[in-house]
Amino acid sequence: MTLIRVVMVAPDMAEPEHTALLLKCYTKLKDFTTLEEFLKTTPPSQYDHATAIEVLESAAYHGLAAEVAQKVGSHDDFVRISLEQFKNYGTTVQFLHSLPRVEAGRILLNYGRTLMRHAPKETVKLIRHVCNLRGQPMDGQALQAESQGPTVDELLPVFADDLQQLEVFLRSVLVDDGCQLPQAQAERLFPTLLELLVKSHSSLHADGNIPAEKQEMASCIAADIMRLIRQYPSDAALANTLMVCQAFGFVDGFFHAAERLHRHQLLMQWCFEHKDAKRLLEVCKRYGPADQSLWVQALSFLASPESGGGHLEEMGEVLRHIEDSDLMPLLLVIETLRSSNEVTIGDVRPYLQAQYRRLVESAETSRAKSTQDRQEIARMQQEIIQLRTQAKEFQNTRCFQCGLTLEVPAVHFFCGHSYHAYCVPPDGTCPKCSSGALPKLSLKEQREAQARNAEDFFKYLQGGAGDSGIQAMGEWCKFGAFDASMASMDLEDEED
Ligand SMILES: [Zn+2]
Ligand SMILES: [Zn+2]
Repeated sequence: MTLIRVVMVAPDMAEPEHTALLLKCYTKLKDFTTLEEFLKTTPPSQYDHATAIEVLESAAYHGLAAEVAQKVGSHDDFVRISLEQFKNYGTTVQFLHSLPRVEAGRILLNYGRTLMRHAPKETVKLIRHVCNLRGQPMDGQALQAESQGPTVDELLPVFADDLQQLEVFLRSVLVDDGCQLPQAQAERLFPTLLELLVKSHSSLHADGNIPAEKQEMASCIAADIMRLIRQYPSDAALANTLMVCQAFGFVDGFFHAAERLHRHQLLMQWCFEHKDAKRLLEVCKRYGPADQSLWVQALSFLASPESGGGHLEEMGEVLRHIEDSDLMPLLLVIETLRSSNEVTIGDVRPYLQAQYRRLVESAETSRAKSTQDRQEIARMQQEIIQLRTQAKEFQNTRCFQCGLTLEVPAVHFFCGHSYHAYCVPPDGTCPKCSSGALPKLSLKEQREAQARNAEDFFKYLQGGAGDSGIQAMGEWCKFGAFDASMASMDLEDEED
């Protein structure tokens, strides 16, 4: 044994085997005092540290092993022995406080979960220290120091067993006193905190409702969530928010994100699924100006049996809007309302009355135009009679079509135009006059048909307006009451 000690004292000759041999001898002899004496007096450079700690531990001299580990700066071993053998959670945390932040962070990753389980408060404090969170937003200098230590997201595994603690911690870092982290880092942590908060919010629900005694807590969390969400307006963060809030049924956050991302179709879908007519109306009001089809969708939904009924007030508002912006033809509205079992004529009377007034106006203008056309026809007929009975002189010397001097054979029309025979089109009409005549004729027919059509419809509308009126009216439309070709046939009959 003396020989071994001599060998070891000689510089640079301490091999692991020598250390092991010597210490094993001491431990075998159970000579604690000499062993302690040796470790105290021998400089650490003269024996192999890892072997020394290993031998001492295997001989159950844990106190000595810890001392050696601390003396030689083997922090991992010291922390491991302190936790496993002595359960010194508080002092271990204090010890880590004294280490450089990078080193403390590295050890925390290995032993943080144990510390968190037994001394959560102290450990969180340590993490704040290691990540350089001083409870103040950081300036440039602090940021530089920050880059040396571990970041908060690197230390998240420490919280793996205690999500409650993680929620409290992240809340304190990101929300409570404003964000204490650089933006990029905060944005990486944001989804984690959001999910935790939304989860705990949804855990307060029982059977879809929040019990009265938890209302205050729930609204507090909800306010925090909204505050948090508003801090991260980037598209990626919003997409994340959308997903998390939808998954855990946090409606306000879901609406906020979907609105910012302009996913209003998603919101409509949500309203349909949850039969939420109030929110549906809000969505329509907000996005209707950009996408008018939302109103039409809303009406179809409210009238359909899937809506569950009882939304007459909202339906009235939707109808009012459809009417103001003239989004749907009357017949389509009636068709849509037919699918509803509960809507009666009485419910949509204001809408129908307004439509009625509008149709009356358009019928009146049509009628006025039709009268005008009839007068013109009469005048033309008069002219034809004159042409038939009176002789007409043709003094044109040039063809109206090509402009060259007229020569035989020439064609003269009653309208006063003359052409070369070969300049007249194959249908034999006057090229100058016939081009304007045909459209006019069809226009006249169209106007008359319109006027007659509306008259019939109003007669019906005023006559029978019972509670099942919409159904009947729909049928009436179905059989082609508004078919333009039928109406024009009537007109021809009359003229005959
Ligand atoms: Zn000609
Ligand atoms: Zn002519």
